[in-house]
Order: sequence, then structure tokens, then C-alpha cells
Amino acid sequence: MGMPRQWRRFPPWPALVAMAFCVTMRPSIAQIHTADLGLQLEQAESVRTADHPRFLSRLSLLRSQAAAMSMRERWHLRYLEAWEASFEGDYAGAEPKLRDVIDHSEDPALSVKASAILMDDWGSNKRYEEAFGLANTLVEGLPATHDKLAHFVALSYLSQLLRSAGQYELAAAYAHDMAQDPPAGETACKPLTMQMTALYEWHKLTSSSPQLQSALDACQAAHDSVFTHTLLLVKGSLHLDENQPSKAIQLLQRIAPGVRSDQYYSNMLTLQVQLAQAYLKLGKDDAARKAALAALALSDPGDISETLRDAYQVLYSLDKKQGNTAAALADYEHYVAQDVGYLNDVSARALAYAMAKQHVIVQKLETEKLSRENNILRLQQALDGKAVETIRLYVVLLLVVLASAVFWLLRLKRSQLHFKKLSSTDGLTGVYNHQHFMGEAGRALHQLERRGGAACLFFIDLDNFKHINDTHGHPMGDAVLRRTVTICRQQLRPTDLFGRLGGEEFGILLLDCTREQGIAIAERIRRAIDVAKVQGDDDIIMFSASVGLASTEYCGHELQRLCREADAALYRAKRAGRNRVIADTEEDGLVEA
Ligand code: GH3
Ligand code: MG
Ligand code: MG
Repeated sequence: MGMPRQWRRFPPWPALVAMAFCVTMRPSIAQIHTADLGLQLEQAESVRTADHPRFLSRLSLLRSQAAAMSMRERWHLRYLEAWEASFEGDYAGAEPKLRDVIDHSEDPALSVKASAILMDDWGSNKRYEEAFGLANTLVEGLPATHDKLAHFVALSYLSQLLRSAGQYELAAAYAHDMAQDPPAGETACKPLTMQMTALYEWHKLTSSSPQLQSALDACQAAHDSVFTHTLLLVKGSLHLDENQPSKAIQLLQRIAPGVRSDQYYSNMLTLQVQLAQAYLKLGKDDAARKAALAALALSDPGDISETLRDAYQVLYSLDKKQGNTAAALADYEHYVAQDVGYLNDVSARALAYAMAKQHVIVQKLETEKLSRENNILRLQQALDGKAVETIRLYVVLLLVVLASAVFWLLRLKRSQLHFKKLSSTDGLTGVYNHQHFMGEAGRALHQLERRGGAACLFFIDLDNFKHINDTHGHPMGDAVLRRTVTICRQQLRPTDLFGRLGGEEFGILLLDCTREQGIAIAERIRRAIDVAKVQGDDDIIMFSASVGLASTEYCGHELQRLCREADAALYRAKRAGRNRVIADTEEDGLVEA
């Protein structure tokens, strides 16, 4: 009959959707000569059903310009080629193209439209399971695109597929969603019609339902003849269901010329079958037979549908009533074939829907299980992480404790050393104090004695020191004491022992030093002190020292003896007039520096 394949192959309502795009997408095509390939693609798409020959010529023109296209435009072209293959009924050719667009275009709107077409193709080829599987994917993918037309197209195909599987409530809900916000170039007419057909099959309508009237108003306002007639045919069916055949005939006769001029197969078939049923109820057998035969004449030999089943049922009733047994049997066989075929198809769709739904539930359960397992794993990891953190904390704590222990130990050691030093040195001059000097001197002499070494012990006493204190003050006296120590140190080796014995009196033990060497060093020290000067507040302070010397050569290595002798020599030096060195065994004035 020269109609697009969807018109011929589809049962009535699915065809409605394809028809819808034919009728409503009729945009201006005047400006198609544009350099903008993207726009040309959009314009070609918009005339694809309204002016199919023009679409084909646009498509071949666009194909020749493919090299100049952007990636996005190339995918759009590929989608249009897929659409064309599907439109021509070349499902095998369309499928790989559609899959390519769905999987690789990375354009959510194109992907949704291609999915909708593929889903529709599978529905047409009774590949219901795949169609419902894709429907699930499509529903999941819809939020990714904000393209209104893609939403509209997808929802209409989904609604149609769900209705065909007996899911009237969902089908009506999708159609209702579509009607809320139709894209540019669309009206509420088509979605409302789809909603009404779903509600009709769901037995939720009466011939006087206000929603049916609203849908009719919307389609009349949109000047949409096909959909207006579709809705009126729904109303006709309702009159029949409500046992009002006269009302039905009245309506059907009124719309018959319009339906015929629409040339919409599904409506034409429905009109004839409803007329046949109405006439049969009124006992107008001839008119009923004529209408039923007219319906069958519209169909192709292989067609199977609920409407054709109804046509055969009318013929069977008529032949049986009129006693045409043979004809009645033939009618009945046709009727059964249609009924079984139709019911098989319906149950196949329902089964596929149930399986797809089951699949989704299983997937959801698996996802939930996985996410539960993931949660446990995450919790475990978090716990492990916490354990590691705790261990780390302990390690840090331990290190801190260790570090502070070491710190305090070091401090303790330092203060011990400090106290030790304090306890062994003289606070004012920094040399050994009396006690420490004596201790060290005793040990050193002991060692020296064992190896037969010689040593000299000096006692140095500043002369008339009291007078310095009295004249220049105690602080200046301290300065003189410190200066004396500095001078002595300059004459000593590191191994020599040096200590403050008290007041202005110092002791020096020269190790590995002969008596002669000792006298020379003592003399050098005395002279250096004698020439030293300390700057006082007003004048320069000069001072001198007397030295008493005892050597191991005369006194032996016993400290007490050496001290006694050194002290005695010092006493003699003082008595001899001070500022001089007197050694053991020497008498006053015998050896004078
Ligand atoms: P001589 O020549 O007989 O040794 O007479 P001297 O005045 O040096 O001896 P004396 O023992 O009479 O006086 C020692 C003085 O040293 C008495 C004391 O005030 C002073 N003196 C002792 N220790 C210190 C000190 O640490 N600093 C100062 N500035 N004076 C001290
Ligand atoms: Mg003195
Ligand atoms: Mg003294």
C-alpha cells in the first residue's frame, strides 16, 4: 500500500508513535542551503518523515560533505543513516550503526534516540527480551541528557513498548510525563493520545471520561487529524464496550471520511472492525459483513492483530447465525489463528518484560550485595587504617618518651658534670679548688713516683694583698687574682696541676720537672706577675708574689712533705722581703731572684 514499514507491520498503537513523528515534525525547510553542516543535519532530521524523498536527497548531499564535518556532526550523520536503514525495514543494516552511535558517539542525546530506535526495531522483530533489556538501559541513561526531544522520543517508544507488554500503568505514566513539557514543535496531543490508549486498555476510561475529552481538545487545537481520529476511535470502542452500538455507529460514520483521507492504516482498520461489531450488535448483518470484509481487505496475508481477530469473530458470528457452517468453520479457524498469534505475541512481550524486570531486580540485588561487600571492605580498610594509625601513634609516643628520657638523662649528666666541675674548681678563677688540687696532686705524685719522675710544687702568695683590697676595693682585688691565674697559666703545660689553695694563695705542681727547671719556671712566673698591671678605677694597680718551692729531688714524692717544705720556703720568702722565689733547702736570702 506504499506506506512506511511501521505503518504496515506494527499493531495499531505502536504505529501511532511512528505516525506521530510523521505528523508533528514538519519544520521549515526553506533555509536548508546553509554552510552550517550541523544545522543542515538538524534540518534533514526534522524532515525525515514529513518529506522523506527530500530527507534522502539531503542525506546523500551530507554524506558527500562528511570529510568537512566535525566529529559530532559525523556521529549525527551516522545516526541519520541508521534511522534511514531502520525506516526502510533494513534492521540488519540498522543495528550495527545504531549500536555504534549508542556505544561510541559520546553524545547522550544521540545515544538516547538511537537506543529508542533500536528498542523499537527489536520490538518489531519480536526480540522482546533484548528490547526490554535496552529499555532498562535507556531509562537509566535518560538523566544523562537534557535534550528535550531525545527525552520525548525515548519516553514515547518506552511507553509504546510497555503498553505492548500489558504494562498500562507505566505506559500511561510515561505518556503523562511527556505531555507535561513537550519540546519545540510538539504538543500535548500525541502524549495525551498515548496516555488515553494505555488507560483504555487498562480499563480506566469511559466514553464520557473528562480526560478523554481534554485529550480530544488538545488534538483538535493542534489540528492533528490522525490523533483526533485515534481518540475518537477509542471513544467508539468505549461505546461498544458500554453496549451502545448506535452511538458507536453515529460516531464512526461521522469520522469515516476523515479517517479515510488520513490514510492511516491502523485507524482505517479499527474503524471498519468497530463498524462491523456495531452493526452485528444491531442485527444489521449485511452492513456488518461488509465492514468486516473491508477490514480484512486492508490487511496483508501474514498480518496478525487483535483488530483482525475481532474482524474474523464478526464474520464467524454472522456465518454461524446464517447457517453457513463451512464458512463459519473457516472464519473460526482464522479467528483462532489470529487470537493465538496475538495472545502468543502478547504473552511473549509480557514474559520478556517480566524477565527484563527480573534481570533488573537480580542486578539490583547483586549491586546491593556488592556495595554491602564494598562497605564491609571499606570498613575493614578503615579499621586497618585505624590500627596502623594507632601503632604509628604508639611508635611516636614511644619515641617522644625515649627522646625526653635521653634529653633528661643528658641534662642530668650535664648538671652532674656542672656540679662536679663546680665542686672541683674555684668559682672566681676557674682553677682547681684546694681539695681537688690536693687530690689530683697526690695521685699524680704517686704515679710519678712509680716511674721515677721528678716534680716541683710551688706555693704562690700575693704580697700585701690585703693592702690592694683596702686601697682599690674587693672587686679590684678579684681582678688581680684572675690576672695572676692568667699569667701563671701562660707559663704552664697542660699536664701541670694548678689550684687556688685559699685567699690569695695558689699551688702549682709541675710534673716531669727537675728542681732546676722548676726554679726557672717559678722565677718566670714571679717576674711576669711583678711587671703585670691591672687598670683600677683611678690608677694602675701593680702587684707582686712570693713563691715557695719544694722538689721531689729533696723532699721525695710524699705530698704532705712537699707541702710542708713549699710552705716553709714561702714563709722564708716573705720573711726575706717578698717578691722572690725560695726553694726547699735554701735559706732566706740564699737564693734570691
Ligand atoms: P702578706 O704579704 O704577708 O701575704 O700580706 P697579705 O696582706 O697578702 O696577707 P693577709 O693574709 O694579711 O691578707 C690576705 C687578704 O686577702 C685578706 C683577705 O681580705 C684577702 N682575700 C682573701 N680572699 C680574697 C678574695 O677572694 N678576694 C679578694 N679581693 N680578697 C681576698
Ligand atoms: Mg699575701
Ligand atoms: Mg696569704
